[in-house]
Amino acid sequence: MTQKNAKLKVLFVSAEVAPYAKTGGLADVAGSLPVVLSEAGIDVRVAMPKYRQIDGNSKYVTDFPVSIDGRVETCIIRRGKMNNKVPIYFVDSYNYFDRDGIYCFMDDAQRFAFFCKAILKMLPNIGFKPDVIHLNDWHTGPVSMLLKESFADNDFYKNIKTIFTIHNLKYQGNFPKEIINLFDAGESVFIPEKTEFYGTFSFMKTGIVYSDIVNTVSNVYAKEIQTKEYGEGMEGILQKREEDLYGILNGISYDEFNPKTDIDIYKNYDSENLEDKKYNKTKIQKELGLKKSDVPLLGIVTRLSGQKGLDLIIDKIEQIISKCQLVVLGTGEPYYETAFTELKNKYPDKISLNIEFNAGLAKKIYAGSDMFLMPSRFEPCGLGQLISLQYGTIPIVRETGGLAETVIDYDKDPINGTGFTFKDFNMDEFYDAVERAVKLYNKKALWNELVKKGMGKDLSWEMSAKKYIDLYKKANSHK
Ligand code: ADP
Repeated sequence: MTQKNAKLKVLFVSAEVAPYAKTGGLADVAGSLPVVLSEAGIDVRVAMPKYRQIDGNSKYVTDFPVSIDGRVETCIIRRGKMNNKVPIYFVDSYNYFDRDGIYCFMDDAQRFAFFCKAILKMLPNIGFKPDVIHLNDWHTGPVSMLLKESFADNDFYKNIKTIFTIHNLKYQGNFPKEIINLFDAGESVFIPEKTEFYGTFSFMKTGIVYSDIVNTVSNVYAKEIQTKEYGEGMEGILQKREEDLYGILNGISYDEFNPKTDIDIYKNYDSENLEDKKYNKTKIQKELGLKKSDVPLLGIVTRLSGQKGLDLIIDKIEQIISKCQLVVLGTGEPYYETAFTELKNKYPDKISLNIEFNAGLAKKIYAGSDMFLMPSRFEPCGLGQLISLQYGTIPIVRETGGLAETVIDYDKDPINGTGFTFKDFNMDEFYDAVERAVKLYNKKALWNELVKKGMGKDLSWEMSAKKYIDLYKKANSHK
């Protein structure tokens, strides 16, 4: 593989890259896929904004002016290395990125418009002309438009192709019409066939329309988003792009998520040593103030958002804690933070609530729990269920998006089953899956077999990285 791909050059652009900045799965993907691509012989480099939280271990490379919003901003490029392998360029602006936090500022449209322009201006300055720019989620969508509309006359940018990966269609970056002016593309592109979305300028739609190839992070979600139910208003434009729309499942990094080597968990273990997994359960029960008990410990590590189906858990909490303990780690919408706080206050020795972002605690939960809950309303791919499989923690998931593709129901298919699933978004179907899991949990030999089966699954990036390389080649041969 190495020889064949030696010359393919890819710039991978993302607003989040683990471990530098992370709010969700996008960061995991951006932090792990490029490393595997590089091992497969692709000349891949990564670019992200340099937020204040990213500390100094990067070298100054160059700086240049970027005109935006009637002003000229200085963009500074610094360079680091991911996993000692992959060059990563940090796009720095004192004005836009030197702040506490990643998103949710009043000027996010300006911040990411600056980022998109800076990405393209950076390329001749660092002497790198990629064959393909791999864009991820709304923050990066307009790069594809800039290439085709604003930078088209410049020879340097000729023949650079784009792939746009949708990690979550719900977050679209829709802003007032005037934002189009930041891109010097002319008002003629503000039409429904291009960038306009119900009167707004949409970063997401722009990426979908202008990129040579579009993909999302599972085959099921790729189909779902072409329907009204899951299309978030963009189903029409996605149907139009159907021929260039692909689904590729995410993998996980075994360097990062591996119970055999993980330094964050209480004791390392593998599928031959499940007693040591149990040790992790006892320890976390103690650390989080739960009673030492043999009942199933259910884990949740998630953004506290409507997407994640937390309402089903809240609705069934009494039944759940009559049989299980629950540990929740997450931050997000105040509604869910309050709802879980009330439940925690009511049942302090049955529920542990941790409202924070804490990567170390997340791993302790993946390792110490018996089951992992993901009853999502929709789930483009989902990494929580993959990580929990890897840690021998049985996922209970709703059959949607990547969850439907990666977890097989044990009762429907005991041979291949890896977890418990339910179809319709309602609390009885959800609770039925929990009850079925608890029933099997009490048959220890069968349970351990299921745990081992999950731990033996290949969830690495290997297969999916090959599919991305095929897409890069396909993009490269686009007219
Ligand atoms: P999404 O991308 O929708 O947030 P995923 O399941 O694809 O959901 O990925 C979530 C990633 O973020 C996982 O690696 C999960 O462990 C991590 N994560 C989510 N919330 C937290 C948190 N509060 N603390 C630590 N890690 C978290």
